[in-house]
Amino acid sequence: MKLAVIGNPIKHSKSPEIHAEFAKQAGIEISFKKVEVSLENCNEWVESFFKEGGKGLSVTLPLKEQCIKIADEVSERAKISGAANVLYELNGKIIADCTDGTGLINDLVKNKKIPIKDKNILLIGAGGAARGIIPNFLLEHPKLITVANRTFSRASKLVDELSNTASLSSKSSILIASGLNPEELKDLHFDIIINATSVSTNPKLNLNLDKSIFKNTSVALDLYYSQAFTPFMESAKDAQVPIVIDGWGMLVEQAAESFNLWTNVNPDTSNLIAKHGE
Ligand code: NAP
Repeated sequence: MKLAVIGNPIKHSKSPEIHAEFAKQAGIEISFKKVEVSLENCNEWVESFFKEGGKGLSVTLPLKEQCIKIADEVSERAKISGAANVLYELNGKIIADCTDGTGLINDLVKNKKIPIKDKNILLIGAGGAARGIIPNFLLEHPKLITVANRTFSRASKLVDELSNTASLSSKSSILIASGLNPEELKDLHFDIIINATSVSTNPKLNLNLDKSIFKNTSVALDLYYSQAFTPFMESAKDAQVPIVIDGWGMLVEQAAESFNLWTNVNPDTSNLIAKHGE
C-alpha cells in the first residue's frame, strides 16, 4: 500500500516510524515516504500521488487548509476544523478528514484516564490545532472552555464560528474567547490548561505565563511533541501541576485513526506511546 506524509519542513516527522509499526502489527506491506511539498506544488503533487495508485497521505503544516480544497469530499469534522491532516482514496475519490481531535481525546480519556466532563478548560491558541480539537472537547461536556489567544480577534472568530455550527450548538458547554493577557488569566481557575500555540516549536519563545495561572490545575498539556520539557511544561511542573504531558500520545493516536481510514485496521498504540518517540 502506497502511503506518505507531506509538509514543509518534513524532516522531523515521526509518521514513517509510527505507520511502519502499525503496518507490522497488521501484517500489511506499506511504502511510506516523507516528502517535502510546498504550498505552490501541493495540488499537482497530491493529484499525481493518487493517480499513480497512492492510497493515503498524512498532511502537516503548511498544507492542512489547502488539502481541504483539493479533496472531492470532506468529512464533517474536517469541515468544522477547516483543515485536513489526512487524505485517502475511496472509490476513485479523494476524501479529506481531520483525526487530530479524536486522537487527542483518545489519548487523554482512553489512555490516560483524564476526565473532561464538567472540567474548566483553558485552551491557549486559536490556530489549526485549536480548531481541530475544540469540537471533540465539546462532545465530552466540559463545564467551560476558554480560548485565549495573542490575537483576540482570531479567538473570538473561532468561538463564534464553532458556537454557530449546528452540530455543536446544542452542546451544553460554554465556549468563550479571551485575549492572551497573563495578568487577566491568572485570577481564573482552570482544571486543564492546553498549550495549542506554536510557541514551543521555537525554543527561544515563551508564553510567559504567570505561575499562579496553574494554581488549581491538575493537567497541563502541550500539544507540541518533544523529548525535553518545553518552557510551558517547565512552568507547569514548577507550579506543582500533578500531570504534565506533551503531544506524543496525540500524535500516535491521530496516526492510528488515519491508519484505520486507509486500512480498516485499528492498531494497538500502547507500545509506541510508552516509547515516547525514542
Ligand atoms: P498555527 O495554526 O500556526 O497556530 C499558531 C498559534 O500560535 C496561533 O494561535 C498563534 O497566535 C499562536 N502563536 C504563535 N506565536 C506566538 C507567540 N509568540 N506568542 C503567543 N502566541 C503565539 O499552528 P497549529 O497548527 O495550530 O499548531 C499549534 C501547535 O500544535 C504546534 O506546536 C504543533 O506542533 C502542535 N500540533 C500537535 C499535533 C500532535 O499530533 N501532537 C497535531 C497538530 C498540531 P496568533 O493568532 O496571535 O498568531
